Amino acid sequence: MTKPVIAIAGLTACSGCQLTLFNCEEELPQVAERFRFAWFPMGLSGSDECGPLDVAFVEGAVSTPEDLETLINLRNRSSLLVAIGTCAIWGGIAAMKNNESRKELAETIYGDSAHSIKTFAPGPLQRFVTVDFAITGCPPEKGELLTTFASILHGTLPVFPGYPVCTEC
Ligand code: SF4
Repeated sequence: MTKPVIAIAGLTACSGCQLTLFNCEEELPQVAERFRFAWFPMGLSGSDECGPLDVAFVEGAVSTPEDLETLINLRNRSSLLVAIGTCAIWGGIAAMKNNESRKELAETIYGDSAHSIKTFAPGPLQRFVTVDFAITGCPPEKGELLTTFASILHGTLPVFPGYPVCTEC
């Protein structure tokens, strides 16, 4: 059986969603056996940043030009793009200051260097690209992450009880 090729990437975030995978200690060897991790900078492997992907799991909000470039790269290469966690789905912590002036926030943090900071109001993935599936939580439940992996192996996506019918709800 051909292994699905996946990427796990983090944008502006705390990496807690990606750590959920490492918390699946017992199941992690099976996951590693059944999928090919083409790109997972934080973890198992990955230097292939060019080839096609079956699924890209993306954590974090889009708050810098680099985030946007990474997201578009992954979207263009992936059959499915899965948002993992509150930051990716709704903007999370990165978006909590969106009602305040970006310029003033940058000056507060970076002082005289603020003019060199390239940033924009952080937003969820779906503001920029099509998102095929989302796993909620901050961080997500590891069971839901594993169920999603298992479903992908069967060529489908899971239905989790209590989820909104769309991620904009
Ligand atoms: Fe961290 Fe929560 Fe954002 Fe995941 S959703 S990256 S755990 S703050």
